[in-house]
Amino acid sequence: TPNIPNDHPRAESLHYRHTLVDRMFEKVVTPSGLCAHGRGEAFDYLLGEQTIPPSEKAMEAAVAYLLLAKHPVFSINGNVAALVPESIVELAEVLEADLEINIFYQAPGRIEAITSILKKAGAKKILGLGDIPPTSLSNISSNRRIVDPRGIFSADVVLVPLEDGDRTEVLIENDKKVIAIDLNPLSRTAQKANITIVDNIIRCIPKMVKIARRMKNLESEKIKVIVNNFNQKKNLDDCLEYIINFLQNLMENPDSK
Ligand code: ATP
Ligand code: MG
Repeated sequence: TPNIPNDHPRAESLHYRHTLVDRMFEKVVTPSGLCAHGRGEAFDYLLGEQTIPPSEKAMEAAVAYLLLAKHPVFSINGNVAALVPESIVELAEVLEADLEINIFYQAPGRIEAITSILKKAGAKKILGLGDIPPTSLSNISSNRRIVDPRGIFSADVVLVPLEDGDRTEVLIENDKKVIAIDLNPLSRTAQKANITIVDNIIRCIPKMVKIARRMKNLESEKIKVIVNNFNQKKNLDDCLEYIINFLQNLMENPDSK
């Protein structure tokens, strides 16, 4: 990993970029995972590379959904394992959710590499390893349909930090409540999910851990109120409005960049 000067304006972003490249050589991340991250980062500029207020709200709603779920499952792909291994494992622990590795590109050794990262991060139970015969979700033709019968197949709420639109649609068709984390509010995933958190997973997952710890002991009536008060369409519109105002402000005050 090359040395990145701390005062570089994009030091953090460069750090994560190199992490992804390192993890690619370890087979955790695929070349298309690198492209996906780049697409996400482009949208992060439009948010000022910060967690915006509507996304904070969506996180609370997401935690509320997950707290009320009978069987919450987190779908883990290579980028998630590479970028936020410790905090995703911690979030699953706080919310009593299962972790299921769910990847599109099945290179030999890849599942093992992702498993090893999650275990190092403290995961005790990992699903999707192929140790029992997988099951198929209906209405999907690629290997994206293959899921663990103990995990996503029987889940009621699925958290998909970074997911492709095809799979999100299938999860919805299979009656799962889908919570997406996606920097692009216009992606099919963001548009189709039941709750979309428009934020970088690098900021989002640690914040969700804090929110989950704070909300865990709330009475279920209060948690239900948070769920009922959340409006997905309105929240996505609020994200777009934030971006419009942010860009407008940059035009009027170019020095505020
Ligand atoms: P869709 O299939 O939903 O229309 P897409 O084809 O544009 O989306 P994919 O490559 O299928 O994109 O999925 C990756 C998604 O993950 C992108 O929408 C991208 O914005 C998002 N993304 C990538 N990196 C991050 C990150 N670090 N944090 C949050 N979102 C991210
Ligand atoms: Mg896609």
